Amino acid sequence: MDLVFSRLDDSVARFTIHGATPAFANAFRRSMIGEVPTLAIEDVRIYDNTSVLFDEILAHRLGLIPIKTDLSQYKPRKDCSCGGEGCPGCTVTFTLSVEGPKLVTSGDLISMDPNAAPVHNNIPIIKLWEGQKIVLEATAEVNYGTEHAKWQPTLACGYKEYPVITITDDCDGCGKCITECPRRVLEISGGKAVIRSEKGESKEKDCSMCKLCETACTGNEADEKSAIHIKADSTRFIFVVESDGSLPVKRSSNVRCCISKQYPKT
Ligand code: SF4
Ligand code: SF4
Ligand SMILES: [Zn+2]
Repeated sequence: MDLVFSRLDDSVARFTIHGATPAFANAFRRSMIGEVPTLAIEDVRIYDNTSVLFDEILAHRLGLIPIKTDLSQYKPRKDCSCGGEGCPGCTVTFTLSVEGPKLVTSGDLISMDPNAAPVHNNIPIIKLWEGQKIVLEATAEVNYGTEHAKWQPTLACGYKEYPVITITDDCDGCGKCITECPRRVLEISGGKAVIRSEKGESKEKDCSMCKLCETACTGNEADEKSAIHIKADSTRFIFVVESDGSLPVKRSSNVRCCISKQYPKT
């Protein structure tokens, strides 16, 4: 099995796996979503809340704020030497003390560890009016997306089968498929339709397999009379993975499953 990256930075990875099965591709996707641990706020002790939100909703909103996670410093509670009690090796404490009028954002959360702060400081939590107040203490712990969606480190994380476009000698270069293609995958060259290239890279992988080109070619339903055929290669998969910022996408250590750990950058 080969894995080829076309993009790999802190926030997005785009890569193709060759020689896999649909079951493997799906298991891999699920692993990236649910088996890579991150920090998220789990317990909230509210001392004062005179805002318009119930305590529970406030706590829920806090839980969804992505928190920078250094997995060389923090580990899931159940794997921690504290035995799940909570300690500096698996838990981070935040305080929030605000008074209206004010738009309270994630930047108002004060972390006991500056390296485990919210990823973004401008995530709105609540708007306080004159005289309204919130005072609370929150603890974030490391856990897995399989426990709760707030521990998922990914935003978009999906794949598609690799599209395979075949153009037969019956193509007369009429150009109908080029006009119809919404992804600008095709062009006319040498009197017939061909797959476009950009900066030396084939645009075939941009095909969404909508088959509008096949229909345009026959003027009716797509069938074997079409000079262009679209198929999916179920041994090759194009993945796009976005991180919520809590972990770099290419994070490679201390995780149960991670792209760059199993498949070094190529
Ligand atoms: S299947 Fe759709 S996206 Fe792919 S080449 Fe045909 S028209 Fe374009
Ligand atoms: S593939 Fe069909 S629609 Fe496209 S240029 Fe050839 S004949 Fe025309
Ligand atoms: Zn611990």
